[in-house]
Amino acid sequence: SGIESTELRATPVNRKLELRCDGFSGLADALEYAATGDTGFNFYGHNGQLEHILSYRDLYDEARTLARRLAGLGCPRGTRVGIVAETDPLFHRFFFACQFAGLVPVAVPAGVNLGAHQAYVSQVRRMLDSCGARIAVAPESHADLLAEVVEPLDLVMSGTPEQFDGLPQSSDELIPATGTDLAYLQYTSGSTRFPRGVEIDQRTVLENLRQIALNGLRLDREDRFVSWLPFYHDMGMIGFILVPLIAQLSADYIASRTFAMRPRLWLKLISDNRGTISSSPTFGYALCARRLRPSDYERYDLRSWRAACVGAEQIKPAPLQAFAEALAPCGFDARAFTACYGMAESVLAVSFAPLGQGLQVDRVDSERMAREGIAAPVAPDSPNAAAYVDCGIAVPGFELDIRDDAGNTLGERQCGRIFLRGPSVMGGYFDDPEATSQVLAEDGWLDTGDIGYRFDDRLVITARSKDVIIIKGRNIWPHDMETLVERQEAVRLGGVAAFAISRESDEDQAVIVVETRDRDPDSRERLVHSIWSLMHEHFGINVVVDLVKPGTLPRTSSGKLSRSLSRQGYFERKGKATDSRPTSAS
Ligand code: ATP
Ligand code: MG
Repeated sequence: SGIESTELRATPVNRKLELRCDGFSGLADALEYAATGDTGFNFYGHNGQLEHILSYRDLYDEARTLARRLAGLGCPRGTRVGIVAETDPLFHRFFFACQFAGLVPVAVPAGVNLGAHQAYVSQVRRMLDSCGARIAVAPESHADLLAEVVEPLDLVMSGTPEQFDGLPQSSDELIPATGTDLAYLQYTSGSTRFPRGVEIDQRTVLENLRQIALNGLRLDREDRFVSWLPFYHDMGMIGFILVPLIAQLSADYIASRTFAMRPRLWLKLISDNRGTISSSPTFGYALCARRLRPSDYERYDLRSWRAACVGAEQIKPAPLQAFAEALAPCGFDARAFTACYGMAESVLAVSFAPLGQGLQVDRVDSERMAREGIAAPVAPDSPNAAAYVDCGIAVPGFELDIRDDAGNTLGERQCGRIFLRGPSVMGGYFDDPEATSQVLAEDGWLDTGDIGYRFDDRLVITARSKDVIIIKGRNIWPHDMETLVERQEAVRLGGVAAFAISRESDEDQAVIVVETRDRDPDSRERLVHSIWSLMHEHFGINVVVDLVKPGTLPRTSSGKLSRSLSRQGYFERKGKATDSRPTSAS
């Protein structure tokens, strides 16, 4: 059933036009060009059935109509429009309506994790509030949630697309956003702090799109995109809406939720549509590999998949190799793996590994990395070997600089903070000059907050300078976990450290170290249990709880808790070898 039916078969790739990718004054312009072809977006449902076809031509017409309705609301140009980014044509329509009306779309997360209703509501509310959104839209499935989110906010209009369809159209001429007008606000993932709204203007996004299309992926008109990534993340939004669009190529989608339940649909979509470009963080490949069935080897043909991009988080080679081996009988070529690196602050991509070469793993001495911050190559079978993936060469126009804590440029194979400068660096964080000046210098250098090293022209990412806890693909802020625990009796404020310990082929494990004076075994056990249930309730995760004496947790000279040193201390207490997270050279 489903995508075999030929009538609904996805829009064909247009073979008449050459790739243009260039000379646009804004995204509206790029869509106008895309709409001259027969390509577009295809949305697939839970069972792999094709549910919506949104050609660029239709998107162009619909977005312009919607733009006139939004313009009729009378908000000034540049007004932010929150869009609950479900995998649904609604997202594309509103995103481009904003382009035509000179408004600024802001994608906010869709979907609620079980038991995390309150956290979701407050996160989305805080996002809409912090960007001063005056308009918000959500699909029918999120109508109640949106109502709850916006209840205390001062909005001009919010609701489901149907409600917007009922608005009168303004008769004023549409003046699309161009040049230095904002294209969108992209919230960061919130790996190290509450998400920040990154300002990206039209010129800047077009620049990175061009680099990705022509340089990173070397697109041609045979290419076809397939994705399950959410549109509120830059990898999904830029990578699988804007990149295909600027090259007038088609993209096929399943919802992230669908992928989580039925990851093999990803493969089916690639197989049925001869997909050539599809990306995921490591965990997506690992999830998919775990769910394979023996019959799959005859079912899927993955020979078309030429760029399987990996990024967004630390790349773990072992699960990717397992994926490649498992799917080799379907024609998956491990050389399709393409490591890439980037962040919302740089639109999307800063570096790409060369196409068609697979993952290049750099094996270095983990002892020296941990002690000295030097990535010294070792033999693969060395007991100290740590494997890091080569994330490739900077996209043209970007300069990279690895610096020590004092700001001095480091040499080859010395680990330090990654700074970058180039044509697609953000203007700043929305309405936050202080946060902006912390990362973006006057001379244009951006502090990425990531740690890594270079060799030849290659960039390797080894860690974040701040510590992230990622479990099941979700980011959990250590500070949020710690605050909850601190509220427990017998726990002192500041006496808690949360961090993740990484396990090579599996999910990370969260650890919470808690200082307590309590010596009574029964009440200590009660404390541990209450922390377990707190973490379960709030984050849906299992944690390891480690009770220690007061004064055990390490602090910086300015009195701040150090989570990375807490992690080290935990390993020392447990008598385990430290995990191989390196520290920066200082
Ligand atoms: P926040 O900035 O809110 O803490 P975030 O940094 O995760 O969240 P994004 O901009 O979505 O928000 O992600 C960019 C970050 O993802 C990079 O700074 C880096 O830490 C990580 N990342 C991206 N690609 C790679 C890669 N190839 N290897 C390791 N880490 C990567
Ligand atoms: Mg970041």
